[in-house]
Amino acid sequence: MVEPAIAALTDAIKKLGNASSLHSAGRSVRKDLEQAREQIAQAIDCAPSEVIFTATGTEANNLAIKGLYWLGVKKNKKVIITSTFEHHAVADPITWLAEHEGAQVVAIDVDRNGFVDLKQLATRVEEHKNNIALISIMHANNEVGTIQDINQVVKIAGDIPVHSDCVQSFGKVELSFKKLGVTAATISAHKIGGPLGVAALILRKGLDIEPVLHGGGQERDLRSGTFNAPGIISFAAAAANAVDNRKERELKIRELKSELIQTIKKNIPDAWVNGDQVKSLPGIVSITFPKTDSEGLLLLLDGEGIACSTGSACSAGVQRPSHVLMAMGLTEDETTSTLRFSLSYSNTINEIAKLGSVIATVVARSKAASGKK
Ligand code: PLP
Repeated sequence: MVEPAIAALTDAIKKLGNASSLHSAGRSVRKDLEQAREQIAQAIDCAPSEVIFTATGTEANNLAIKGLYWLGVKKNKKVIITSTFEHHAVADPITWLAEHEGAQVVAIDVDRNGFVDLKQLATRVEEHKNNIALISIMHANNEVGTIQDINQVVKIAGDIPVHSDCVQSFGKVELSFKKLGVTAATISAHKIGGPLGVAALILRKGLDIEPVLHGGGQERDLRSGTFNAPGIISFAAAAANAVDNRKERELKIRELKSELIQTIKKNIPDAWVNGDQVKSLPGIVSITFPKTDSEGLLLLLDGEGIACSTGSACSAGVQRPSHVLMAMGLTEDETTSTLRFSLSYSNTINEIAKLGSVIATVVARSKAASGKK
């Protein structure tokens, strides 16, 4: 967690009131909570009343997707348009709606650079025009970092509600809910150095979607449950910190990224970077090292003090090829030869140099051990 978020959390947990209670302790916490709502609204450029606090980005995605779908169903609209490489927190609630509630899912392809095919989107929107409940397309991809042209998606959508998962882009690149033009956007605290277990759905004013959780009626009855006031207050501090320092940090991380890519290319000429490098997040780099095994490679790098992730999803201890990389046209073998490096402003050029000094040896060892031809 970042320092301002830790400080805010430490202060806030000392206050005992429940923000929904009328007594003075409760009112005092409520005041802090509403101030936090204003800070979040300012950070993402929306109205405070458009911020709905949830526990996780996963929950906010579920609320947006199911809520907008159920709203659509009231008007006989049962089509959901999405992309083939969404995070599971978007893809899985959509699959659930298809399996349990008869939603018809149309998944738009992405190209080799990690961009959603907007021509195909326009064609599908035209085909299903009067039956579409919502479109959900992520702003920035979590595995390859590419940033979609959401303005264009909104233009194609016309009056169809658009949800965008902005968990990866919020605080990392310029992001305005108003300018994006979407109906709903998801953000999550732990991606910007805030606490775990706090997030928000930004939902356009006046839209009364069906809630997923029913109970005490908090958050305009859209998300029942006692407020995690300390978490929310800390989230707001992290958001203000991320937005205030974004430009200089983004610049520094982009420089590190460019150095990392050059270093890898110089040492491993057959390696390639996945996804567009211009329209992308500053801190995510996905690299395929052909004929290696990414798990083995990760462990060898870990032994050198370099932490990264594999390009495959680990679920219940079982490695599966990444659906993101497969959607972009990589083979299964290539996806299990892919690593993802995440860079932050606290990384240094010396760390990149260290990677450069070990990568050739480590890749050669992984190639020899992988058995891949
Ligand atoms: N969406 C994206 C793009 C993510 O990267 C993540 C988390 O990694 C989520 C959603 C889920 O957010 P949370 O961990 O807050 O549930």
